[in-house]
Amino acid sequence: MNVLLVGGGGREHALAWAISASPLLTTLYCAPGNPGIAEVATLVPLDVTDHAAVVAFCQSAKIDLVVVGPEAPLVAGLVDDLNGHAIKAFGPTRFAARLEGSKGFTKDLCRDFGIPTAAYERFTEAEPAKAYIRARGAPIVIKADGLAAGKGVVVAMTLTEAIEAVDMMFSGGLGEAGAAVVVEEFMTGEEASFFALCDGQTALALATAQDHKQVGDGDTGPNTGGMGAYSPAAVMTPELIERTMAEIIKPTLAAMTAKGHPFQGVLFAGLMITTEGPKLIEYNCRFGDPECQVLMMRLKDDLLTLLFGAVDGQLKTMSARWFDEMALTVVMAAKGYPGAPEKGTVIRGLDQLKALDGAEIFHAGTALKDGQLVANGGRVLNVTAVGATVAEAQAKAYEAVDKIDWPGGFCRRDIGWRAVERERA
Ligand code: ATP
Repeated sequence: MNVLLVGGGGREHALAWAISASPLLTTLYCAPGNPGIAEVATLVPLDVTDHAAVVAFCQSAKIDLVVVGPEAPLVAGLVDDLNGHAIKAFGPTRFAARLEGSKGFTKDLCRDFGIPTAAYERFTEAEPAKAYIRARGAPIVIKADGLAAGKGVVVAMTLTEAIEAVDMMFSGGLGEAGAAVVVEEFMTGEEASFFALCDGQTALALATAQDHKQVGDGDTGPNTGGMGAYSPAAVMTPELIERTMAEIIKPTLAAMTAKGHPFQGVLFAGLMITTEGPKLIEYNCRFGDPECQVLMMRLKDDLLTLLFGAVDGQLKTMSARWFDEMALTVVMAAKGYPGAPEKGTVIRGLDQLKALDGAEIFHAGTALKDGQLVANGGRVLNVTAVGATVAEAQAKAYEAVDKIDWPGGFCRRDIGWRAVERERA
């Protein structure tokens, strides 16, 4: 089978790593990829926003499956255009990707189909939103409706913050994404990420993870795309996984089918585990980054077989098995991230890590310049390790981090702290 993977981050490197081990694979291509992915795939310099060019490449390279990593091409309808040319693609159509692309769409779907989530109201003007906020009081959560690269959510602890967030969004601070907002009830509990593979009719529970959004140790400082993650999330007991499937994932699949737009791809539910049970915070319609990196390290079954199972509507007869080990990934970012990351700093010492058992380095924002590996983005490397406990995986990951010679980079030193504390208790 020939596969084209779309994307070039740490998530795609992890997917490429898993796909390249598949017995089904003939050739793996990746567009645009990165230097790490280039070790397991042939990079193609395609502009993936040019859907006609992607279709033409698939036809000439006889691609059997396109795997779309990031959300932007899904929301832009890449899968629809590929399917229109009889090219199989893993990931939801433009309409189904609204589960991630429009928070208002998802909230309405939850309301209409009885899926547990925070109480909310949608607004397209500032004044009614402010009136609602004043009536409800703080803490309260303000969300831009559209994709805002992780910057579209303000958890306001005071009324002033909430009102400022509304003004920021309606004055164009987030562009089109903030032209409509959702204001919702503040929920308390522990968060977890839950992943399910969907073929339109059947959902297969994958694994759970927890990520670390904030840039600083002890969950301090501004939010980022994610500074690290580990899997599984201890808070997700078998009972909670069952409830999540029964109360959230399966009703969502049924709802999308009822709307005439079955969901095929990865449904990534951000959950709040409240005293009443799991509630949906948000949906993403693809693997998380960096959660994918830890999931791929734990996946026992062949990823490509599962992805074909989703695209071909065969998940009913399939299962996904996982290694019992814990996996943990530490994101190394360029100094200045998430503000203005410094580009071009040289990274050395990755070669010697290849010998480190149970650890993998997934590239994100790296580039080759004059034969040297350099930083070329905010999040640059994902140092990923497995161990019998989270503490062991954590120790192994930081052992690898410490062998990387990159003065221009930094990372959090406490990824997995909650789980490590739990293990000690
Ligand atoms: P991501 O970057 O994960 O895609 P996002 O910007 O799309 O995130 P959400 O996941 O909806 O936004 O929210 C970001 C974070 O804000 C959540 O992880 C959670 O910590 C917090 N949050 C969101 N909604 C609520 C809520 N109703 N109550 C409490 N906290 C919330």
